[in-house]
Amino acid sequence: MKIFKGALVFLFLNFQPAYADVYVSRIFRIQPFSQKSVSVPAGKYAAFPFKVTTSGDINVTARVLNQPFNDGSIWVCDARNFELYRKKQKNECKGANRQRDIIKFSINVNRPDTYYLIADNTFSLLETKRYQFSVVAPAIMDSAAREKILEVVTTIDKFISASFIAPKFDIKIVPCGFANAYSEGSSGNITFCSELLFELVKSRNDGAFYGTLFHELGHSLLNLWGLPNYANEETVDEIATYFLLQSGNAKLLSDYASYFEDKNSQSEADNIISQGGTHPLSVQRARNVRNNARNPQPFMDRWNRQIYPHMTNNGLKNIVRNPDIYSSPTLAKTELISRGVSW
Ligand SMILES: [Zn+2]
Repeated sequence: MKIFKGALVFLFLNFQPAYADVYVSRIFRIQPFSQKSVSVPAGKYAAFPFKVTTSGDINVTARVLNQPFNDGSIWVCDARNFELYRKKQKNECKGANRQRDIIKFSINVNRPDTYYLIADNTFSLLETKRYQFSVVAPAIMDSAAREKILEVVTTIDKFISASFIAPKFDIKIVPCGFANAYSEGSSGNITFCSELLFELVKSRNDGAFYGTLFHELGHSLLNLWGLPNYANEETVDEIATYFLLQSGNAKLLSDYASYFEDKNSQSEADNIISQGGTHPLSVQRARNVRNNARNPQPFMDRWNRQIYPHMTNNGLKNIVRNPDIYSSPTLAKTELISRGVSW
């Protein structure tokens, strides 16, 4: 595993701990179109094909951007019905007809096919319609990709189980209907939504995948250790930074920061003002990650002091035997001595 090139790999050598469950769903949800904009002249339509590889729900969210005439029609057709639509024949395309402002609907499809999203403006005589739309569709994960993800998550799970004293918790990658990841307060179980995984795979950002998973691990571990800051988003971003630095792969950390830098902090601020939220703005998160990584030694020393008392004897012994640049072997020895354990 690339990520464990550094110290992490030493921590779980020769251990046979009881592992928590790791689960990666075969079915996941992809977003063939995300906030796609299109202008459709009066009397015309625009069709956007997308492949669906399994049965399930297709969710469409669209917005008609025209003012004041914010009515629009959006349809989803399978290949056969799209042909009928194209020829202006009776068809069974499904969707919303002349709806105002925000259009939202779901359709259940029972077979793989090429489907078409149609932004329809055949009803207008003069006005060009401007639409923005997103589509979420079910997909079957490529089995090689699934194996790879399972292997990565299992490796991280083994590392956690071998290194830290904590009740077992599960890590699941499953479709959620939204792109996010979260840690459950009581159990520490982690859900990483496959929608988010897909987004990160599309942007080829490994660092954001590991960073997000380590962020959630931070929530879970601090919570299970009974520490007060387990829900503090800045604290658990520091845990993500702590693990990413230990990976010895500077690109992962930099990619995690760029993931936040690429987000729109202005719209996040608007959302936080209107709806609330616990995460700092992405621009702040990126700066925090980069600032902590800029002067890593004191940062890592502080976190080592916090984390070593919660490490297993074997985890500590491995630090003493195979220290890396960010370990504190003297501190690990002190902790082992206090437990009456030799190394
Ligand atoms: Zn969080």
